[in-house]
Amino acid sequence: MKALVYGGPGKKTWQDVPDPEIVHATDAIVRVETTTICGTDLHILKGDVPAVQVGRILGHEGVGTITAVGSAVSSLAVGDRVIISCIKSCGHCANCKLGLYSHCLGDEGQSGIGWVFGHLIDGTQAEFVRVPYAENSLHRIPPGVSDEEAVMLSDILPTGFEIGVQYGRVKPGDVVAVIGAGPVGLAAIATAGLCGAGTIIAIDTDENRLEQARLFGATDAVVSGSHDWKQQVLALTDGAGVDVAIEAVGIPETFTMAVDVVRPGGNVANVGVHGKPVELHLEDLWIQNINISMGLVNTNSTPMLLKLVARGKIPAGALTTHRFGFDQVLEAYDTFSRAAETKALKVVIS
Ligand code: NAD
Ligand code: ZN
Repeated sequence: MKALVYGGPGKKTWQDVPDPEIVHATDAIVRVETTTICGTDLHILKGDVPAVQVGRILGHEGVGTITAVGSAVSSLAVGDRVIISCIKSCGHCANCKLGLYSHCLGDEGQSGIGWVFGHLIDGTQAEFVRVPYAENSLHRIPPGVSDEEAVMLSDILPTGFEIGVQYGRVKPGDVVAVIGAGPVGLAAIATAGLCGAGTIIAIDTDENRLEQARLFGATDAVVSGSHDWKQQVLALTDGAGVDVAIEAVGIPETFTMAVDVVRPGGNVANVGVHGKPVELHLEDLWIQNINISMGLVNTNSTPMLLKLVARGKIPAGALTTHRFGFDQVLEAYDTFSRAAETKALKVVIS
């Protein structure tokens, strides 16, 4: 089969590799029909994630059709159309029982390895992928949900919801600020609205992203970096500060912005992946009773979010801005990595 193979920092090739095979009885093989690119793939390509070895197949988002199942897989069958969760998890270990799928302990012979596709196991930017723990890591797609909608459930939608909205404890009527209106921030905006947030303030440097944010349910938009951005946010809260600030960028500056706009006793939910240390001023946070949460997505909300997408409650399809064939995957990366110029949100490869 063909796959996108990591060749070390800055290097990737679309090349022939052996087809994946069932290794464990709980595995399935999926023919990938739609995949997409995430900011994390760009981090890996920059060499920011040293654990990723040369030869690894990239990508952790995908939708496709099951072509083989292991002997222990009974709830899924060959021919099923499925979402591939970016996290693979056994579903029965102590951590999985707590909903912490991203900390799955696995079983004998399948433990202690990275659980994100395209990281320590081969990923989804390929014609076929082996999916460990298929019954917990794959979700059958109901009729009426397109591939382009479904692929946003691999990572983007559960991340914005679980780490932004759920960890931020968004309640009906809350004033929520979402810093960074990329795909993850937009997912947080859409799902904060479904949880009843009264005011949703999108904050981004890019005006095009702020326009998108309104489509996803932001009630207000503030240009980050404008001299009075903070006053604008506070004015929308009558000076009180927001109940929940969701950080969806991943740089020290935007984490500080989140802390700056949250009210005393409010919640800061950090979704962004930080490549550099962030300063934490406990002396200021303590006196303001601020709660901070963060973490890796678990994807345990995917079945619930899939129902909402199927009912048209989340405009998942609107995240796709560009479409490419599998043999154009390098062009797709180029378009995605120049998002400011190309206005790319999610580039879909199918
Ligand atoms: P993205 O790069 O597409 O979007 C980031 C947005 O932030 C862009 O719209 C950009 O214009 C905006 N931005 C940049 N600098 C800014 C500033 N100073 N102020 C305000 N906005 C600014 O990324 P994405 O795919 O939406 O992902 C967002 C973050 O979430 C990334 O750090 C990604 O690695 C992370 N992520 C985390 C998890 C998790 O499990 N916690 C999972 C997936 C992605
Ligand atoms: Zn587990």
